[in-house]
Amino acid sequence: MGRPLDTADVDRLRALVTGEVFVRADAALTDEVACFNTLIQHDPDVVVGADSSDDIRLAVRFAAEKELPVYVQATGHGAFAPITEGLLITTRRMSDVVIDPASRIATIGAGASWGAVVEAAAAFGLTPITGSSTHVGAIGYTLGGGLGPLSRTYGFTSDWVRAFTLVSATGKLLRASATEHPDLFWALRGGKGGLGVVVDMDLELLPLERVYGGGLFYDAEHIEEAMRAWVDWVHTVPDTVTSSVALLRFPPINEVPENLRGRFVLHLRYAFVGPVAEGERLVAPMRRAAPAFLDLVADMPTSDIGTIHNDNEKPGPGWSRGMQLCDIDQDFVTAFLARAGGENVPFIAIEIRHIDAEQTRRAPQQSAVGGAGAPFTLVMIGVPVPELFDEVLPRTSDGIVAGILPWIADETNINFLGHVASTQQFASAWPSDAFTRLAETRTAWDPGRLFAYP
Ligand SMILES: Cc1cc2nc3c(=O)[nH]c(=O)nc-3n(C[C@H](O)[C@H](O)[C@H](O)COP(=O)(O)OP(=O)(O)OC[C@H]3O[C@@H](n4cnc5c(N)ncnc54)[C@H](O)[C@@H]3O)c2cc1C
Repeated sequence: MGRPLDTADVDRLRALVTGEVFVRADAALTDEVACFNTLIQHDPDVVVGADSSDDIRLAVRFAAEKELPVYVQATGHGAFAPITEGLLITTRRMSDVVIDPASRIATIGAGASWGAVVEAAAAFGLTPITGSSTHVGAIGYTLGGGLGPLSRTYGFTSDWVRAFTLVSATGKLLRASATEHPDLFWALRGGKGGLGVVVDMDLELLPLERVYGGGLFYDAEHIEEAMRAWVDWVHTVPDTVTSSVALLRFPPINEVPENLRGRFVLHLRYAFVGPVAEGERLVAPMRRAAPAFLDLVADMPTSDIGTIHNDNEKPGPGWSRGMQLCDIDQDFVTAFLARAGGENVPFIAIEIRHIDAEQTRRAPQQSAVGGAGAPFTLVMIGVPVPELFDEVLPRTSDGIVAGILPWIADETNINFLGHVASTQQFASAWPSDAFTRLAETRTAWDPGRLFAYP
């Protein structure tokens, strides 16, 4: 716990930075710290809405002097617990994206969402290795590794980072790259938090303008045959195909398009990099496996990549639990659908992503990223009914986990962990040697643990 701030301290901070400073009494604080999961309401001692790297430097030094833990937030998509103390740096004002078409490098500001990067890159015929949702913050995502619709082909997004600019615990501006502070560069690519405040990152882009992808939707009566076909099919496709399946329960409300409203479906998310005809040939077995009532798979500009998963964009009460799976087979489908396949199971989405590929397996040698050793991810997203969050969703998810226990991997990835229930679960987000090396790197760079991280 830091030293209490008085009005003079806050006035001094306001005079130091060019961005905005908020304290508890400010009505605008609530919006400034809002999270995607609206049940999480941060309540830090002070917030600096940073405008520049200088603001971040000055805020970090101020926090160190006042012994306040430092937290960082961009879009709020990754918040998993309320912040109740300390100094929170919000980065949303630092959302510039600058593209150098000659080197194919995007310099991405701390507050930029993937949507901003995708749009800026598309103007030059380029694309980043994005996540499934364009609303997620590019930096927060990449600090966890990042597995999106192009991951089997191109690996973790963190593999494409060429440098970070960050503010260290001593309030210094540094570069971390393969040649500058390589230990920090290793840790920042997948190690997530407790290492510094990233000001921007240089990300290599792909000279890619189009993908063949989209969704196939199978109605409740065809879920089992489609899922069984997918589990066999993923073992046959080349690394140019990235796919996942999600059991989706759409509520019967007007915000949901009429053709999906109130339906329980299996949604295949498909992305192929290469000629359209080859993409069509590769997905044909899934088109034949069962009748899809909606077929949205088509040639598309990479700027539409967010439509493949079509993630929910609206903030609301959230509960999720994630893990990774070892190889899955028909027995897995039987066990999974027995527990998760009922119409009334209280999860709006349960997604299984196929991530195993040469490019994803390569990552551990180069960076701190976790989860590269497990071929599938699984995330359960609960119905947005807070009364169910404490008991019903944990209990139901425990039941699903118990049913599929033989397929659950020891290791996972921090971006896919969801709600973190224990220290042991948190540690499972990295291979044990990477977890130890990360802890050592954090201690070396931040011995006083200024940057709060579990
Ligand atoms: C709808 C949705 C879709 C998603 N899809 C994917 C996906 O396809 N693939 C995937 O891998 N993950 C995915 N995620 C997980 C997501 O990558 C993480 O939750 C990520 O942390 C979000 O980053 P953010 O900046 O948007 O969130 P924030 O809540 O703003 O930040 C999350 C954390 O990132 C760190 N952080 C952010 N900015 C900085 C900075 N400048 N310096 C230092 N640390 C910083 C902090 O530890 C912070 O607590 C998804 C999440 C959601 C909610």
